[in-house]
Amino acid sequence: MSADTSVSELSKPTISFEFFPPKDEQGESNLWAAIAELQNYSPDFVSITYGAGGGTRDRTVKIASEFIAKTGVPVIGHLTCVGSTREELKEILLQYKAEGFSGVLALRGDPVGGPTSPWVSTPGGFDYANQLVELAAEIGDLSIGVAAFPDVHPASNGNFVQDINVLIEKEQQGATFAITQFVFDSGRYEALRNALDQRGSKLAIYPGIMPVTSYPQIVRMLELSGGYMPKATRLRFARFQNDPASLKKLGIDVATQVCEDVFALGAEGLHFYTLNTAGPTMEILSQLSMLTK
Ligand SMILES: Cc1cc2nc3c(=O)[nH]c(=O)nc-3n(C[C@H](O)[C@H](O)[C@H](O)COP(=O)(O)OP(=O)(O)OC[C@H]3O[C@@H](n4cnc5c(N)ncnc54)[C@H](O)[C@@H]3O)c2cc1C
Repeated sequence: MSADTSVSELSKPTISFEFFPPKDEQGESNLWAAIAELQNYSPDFVSITYGAGGGTRDRTVKIASEFIAKTGVPVIGHLTCVGSTREELKEILLQYKAEGFSGVLALRGDPVGGPTSPWVSTPGGFDYANQLVELAAEIGDLSIGVAAFPDVHPASNGNFVQDINVLIEKEQQGATFAITQFVFDSGRYEALRNALDQRGSKLAIYPGIMPVTSYPQIVRMLELSGGYMPKATRLRFARFQNDPASLKKLGIDVATQVCEDVFALGAEGLHFYTLNTAGPTMEILSQLSMLTK
């Protein structure tokens, strides 16, 4: 067995931030405060989520359009197939294009009953995200990203090869990048990359970085997403569940280490799930060796 001594050839990863459309005025002012601080890190792009079932369509477009006008930073709008017909999805993609979005993150979306419930088809709609990729490619002028799952898609019954086949198909249809579910085990990111590299894929795979700030919240998110956190890491978080300051510090340390590891493994970018808060993400960015040295 030979040791793999190849190192990342990139000098710096791209940096991107994910925001969700706020529900009320207070949420909106928190979001703009977070954006003002995070802008100092010159993001390469931001992405704006799309509510389950399309509930935030108007807010996604409003926040994204304001963001583009105020900052000029490229915006990727998330879009899901849940509850929409092909014609409605086409209309939304055309709206994204007209509003100056740089791209779309083409997702199936979680079924109405939650990520582990059976998928419910919409008459005249799509059953798989690759159909949305195909539609976005047909419309043109939007860069197309997709979701990737280092811990296997929750609906794939552990079939990692199926997930790789799906990503390859989406790439062939026009996707150029993937953003992953949050990564806590860089070995799983490495396995995903290796499997895609072996198939000749050129997809950029941006690992999702989640700074943990609440124990019940991360337990719930892991349950819902089928994401994996190594047992030792989970136990370390559990130890601090009633000590918010120590838990937040641990969340920053764990995420910083994941960033260092995935970058060394060739990650072209780091995508931060900010939860519309700047503090933890800024602390991680200020510690990253490839950004500070
Ligand atoms: C980075 C990221 C951002 C997200 N943002 C949002 C958001 O803004 N709003 C929101 O509601 N949700 C969001 N989600 C959640 C996301 O919608 C769910 O995780 C959803 O399940 C993702 O599905 P997909 O796009 O991979 O679907 P698909 O690619 O359709 O896959 C679904 C299942 O079907 C299988 N499959 C796929 N294509 C085929 C085919 N052609 N034939 C047979 N089987 C197939 C796959 O293997 C998988 O098991 C996000 C997730 C991530 C990782």
